[in-house]
Amino acid sequence: MKTFTYTRASTVAEAAKRATPAGAMPIAGGTNLLDLAKPELINPDQIIDITRLPDLNTVTRTSDGTVHIGALVPNADLAAHPLIRQHYPVLSRAILSGASPQIRNMATTGGNLLQRTRCIPFYDPAARCNKRTPGAGCDALHGPNRMNAILGGSPSCIAVNPSDMAVALRVLDATIHVTTAAGTTRTIPIADFHLLPGNTPDHETRLERGDIITGLTLPPPPPGRQVYRKVRDRASYAFALVSVAAIIDADPTPDASPHIRSARFALGGIATKPWRIPAAEAALADQPLTRDALNRAADLTLAGASGHGENDFKIPLARRTLTHVIAHTARNPIPMDPSGAT
Ligand SMILES: Cc1cc2nc3c(=O)[nH]c(=O)nc-3n(C[C@H](O)[C@H](O)[C@H](O)COP(=O)(O)OP(=O)(O)OC[C@H]3O[C@@H](n4cnc5c(N)ncnc54)[C@H](O)[C@@H]3O)c2cc1C
Repeated sequence: MKTFTYTRASTVAEAAKRATPAGAMPIAGGTNLLDLAKPELINPDQIIDITRLPDLNTVTRTSDGTVHIGALVPNADLAAHPLIRQHYPVLSRAILSGASPQIRNMATTGGNLLQRTRCIPFYDPAARCNKRTPGAGCDALHGPNRMNAILGGSPSCIAVNPSDMAVALRVLDATIHVTTAAGTTRTIPIADFHLLPGNTPDHETRLERGDIITGLTLPPPPPGRQVYRKVRDRASYAFALVSVAAIIDADPTPDASPHIRSARFALGGIATKPWRIPAAEAALADQPLTRDALNRAADLTLAGASGHGENDFKIPLARRTLTHVIAHTARNPIPMDPSGAT
């Protein structure tokens, strides 16, 4: 690992200013940053510790039902928070499906949103990767791409966004709050936060140099049962091959097809950013649950999907997982147990 200077910021403004020069990076839980710095996949020369910044470690609800989550709230605390378990169980379950208890204790809300891809050539210094070295080429396109994207990729990059939490935030319409190096603040809807790779896969989010994520807000939860389903190689401690975050509002009609009032769903593990297609959700709204309606929703969600060899299996897997989650949730529209047991 290359040597770097380490300083601790005591205010958000100071952190933003110090994180502005090229080579400067904020560190929160460090679970991703240090993993990348040790093998010199990234080489920061200044690390700014933001873990002691005041007021970024709480989860609060305002009178209009909006929930604010501080950027430094650990993933474990967020998943266990009573407000999240009761009103946003999809978020709680998505977080708990990721990493390990030890990592979730260290990892933060802001850091999770900014975690880098798990693409094999990205992690292999001997492989070509446009994300690591712009213009170098991409060894995933015709190489080890079992974990890679079937949607949202480009000839430059097919790396998947690996965050489980971000998939749940996408279905919940989160808004991200940022303080800039100039001292101004701005908000970014989660739908716009992560960028498609295009020709610049090294540019992954709407953040600019020096921007500090201070937190995010969730609007009041929409009606319906919330579910997070993650398909992976091992039962725990593995990244998603396919994941689905869904909120399905349906009428229980045991002897007939349930009537779906509204459906929201986002997919992880298959795309370069959390994947949500409003037209696919509209295809199910105010409809009886039928095989045709499910197929239409899956067709719209996966329109344009293409495999690259090893990851071809993700197309049918994503279709089956999505249609199963919607059908199962619509047929069992009981609210989720606030204990998180369902
Ligand atoms: C073995 C292992 C297994 C894992 N499995 C999963 C999994 O299954 N699912 C999953 O979703 N994740 C998984 N993860 C990833 C884990 O969730 C992330 O490493 C973690 O969420 C990153 O948070 P952090 O606070 O440690 O970020 P850090 O490592 O501190 O920072 C990550 C990046 O964010 C920047 N940053 C951090 N906070 C801010 C801020 N407030 N403002 C601006 N920039 C900021 C840093 O500069 C850095 O670029 C796994 C990680 C490991 C090591």
